[in-house]
Amino acid sequence: MFETDFTFEVDISSLLPLFGRRFAKLLESERYAHTIEQAVSDFTALVSPVLLWSRYRIESFRERSVILSNGIEIGGGPVVQVIECAEEVIAGICSIGNEVEKRSKEALKNGKSIYSLLLDALGSWGVDSIKEQFYCGIQQDLKQNEGFRTSTLLSPGESEWDISEQGTIYRLLEENPPDFGMTITESNMLVPLKSLSFLFGTGRNKMGSEKESSCAFCTMGKTCRYRALRK
Ligand code: SF4
Repeated sequence: MFETDFTFEVDISSLLPLFGRRFAKLLESERYAHTIEQAVSDFTALVSPVLLWSRYRIESFRERSVILSNGIEIGGGPVVQVIECAEEVIAGICSIGNEVEKRSKEALKNGKSIYSLLLDALGSWGVDSIKEQFYCGIQQDLKQNEGFRTSTLLSPGESEWDISEQGTIYRLLEENPPDFGMTITESNMLVPLKSLSFLFGTGRNKMGSEKESSCAFCTMGKTCRYRALRK
């Protein structure tokens, strides 16, 4: 499934934890009000959200991975612990497109470093917001329409789950329309850069982790500034 209908309600004060205390204080001053306004307005104009996802039946569980009905094996890190007892997995990738990153880089070259930094932070928040909007919506749909529960959502590279599994998710989704605006490098980085992949379990049985944030499984712990944006 291919989705592009996402909305972005930017609350810049909720993004301030991303910048560190000193810089956040600077941004709160009147001096940068116009720069912030401009960055938010440009982000809203340039963001081009896209999300591709699919459901896969789980054939069997192994100690640290699962085998899907199409024969593909996925796992490592906390995956089995989190989706334990799931009947299916839902995997997806999403992106805000190229333009926000492009504008941010141009601005940096032209000496507009604060504007560039703001746009970059909005881009990171934006791609996370796409994922969250999808996750909230599908959790409700699965519960209402099928009585299905959902596990905690995990992203490769965000916990002890290796970034190489981003390649597995990408390959899983390749059977969908090929021109979905995202590619992957040999080192399993998604392009555009402001993109991410994710996976969670679903089914009628209680799973290993359902209500916890993915941060509970992440080695970054409290040192991560993005943690403040997660529930
Ligand atoms: S701690 Fe940071 S990197 Fe880790 S899952 Fe939470 S937001 Fe992501």
